[in-house]
Amino acid sequence: MGEGLSRFFWGQRQRVAVPPPGSLRMTVVGCGDAFGSGGRLQTCFHVEMAAGRFLLDCGASTLIGLNRLKLDPNEIRAIFVTHLHGDHYAGLVWWLMHAHYVSGRTAPLTIAGPAGLRDRLHQATEVLFPGSSAIEPRYELTHLEYCAGEPLTVAEMKVTPYEVNHPSGAVPYALRAESGGRCLSFSGDTEWVDSLVECSDGADLFIVDCFGYDMDVGFHMSWKTIASHLPELKARRLLLTHMGPDMLSRAPEIQDSRILAARDGLVLEIVGAKGEMKSANLLG
Ligand SMILES: [Zn+2]
Ligand SMILES: [Zn+2]
Repeated sequence: MGEGLSRFFWGQRQRVAVPPPGSLRMTVVGCGDAFGSGGRLQTCFHVEMAAGRFLLDCGASTLIGLNRLKLDPNEIRAIFVTHLHGDHYAGLVWWLMHAHYVSGRTAPLTIAGPAGLRDRLHQATEVLFPGSSAIEPRYELTHLEYCAGEPLTVAEMKVTPYEVNHPSGAVPYALRAESGGRCLSFSGDTEWVDSLVECSDGADLFIVDCFGYDMDVGFHMSWKTIASHLPELKARRLLLTHMGPDMLSRAPEIQDSRILAARDGLVLEIVGAKGEMKSANLLG
């Protein structure tokens, strides 16, 4: 861990201001697959840009992950869900109960996702905590639905959804988030689709589903597939996530300074005109 980042993150984490315009901080809350491979939590990325803090996906273990990293749920302005699999949205069930009964949230919250998310969340809540879907938030809660290629603006964050291919009972999306001159893209779960090229074009960081090493299991990508498309992908760096057992064991074989492997607790901070990056890991 770099000296500067070490002091920065192990100190008064909650009081750290959002990064100034021109910088981006991303913390991996969970980067596992749906089955806990490698002991990793389910998908959730905590992103801080000039416009504020938001989450990309909210897997079932999200509150556990935020807790162990000392990240405050009340500071999250918006949650963007890529697709309707439980390892990407089920954490919202506990999130909304926590906001009401535990954290006493008062700040506005926007939840954005594929059409159908609100109904699916209602059903999941009723199955897991019968009766609790009737909770009336004491804060302003806004639900937004994606339309492929049409940017949403929440506070001053612009997020553009791109349709991908990953059956989940609703249209799945990759997301491109832009604020303060920085850009972060996330493939969500998907097999290779050409829309990933535009979604990640010029991004400072492209977080990309990489379940397998050299075998495609269907509706996810392998490293072999990603590697074959590297010339088309114009992101400054790629962060491999959602790794299954084979990919986890073989990730160290990849020797490319543009490619990073995600781990829970990893923090990447990107600053400056050339997009210099500092990294740290809050979990050691
Ligand atoms: Zn998944
Ligand atoms: Zn999925």
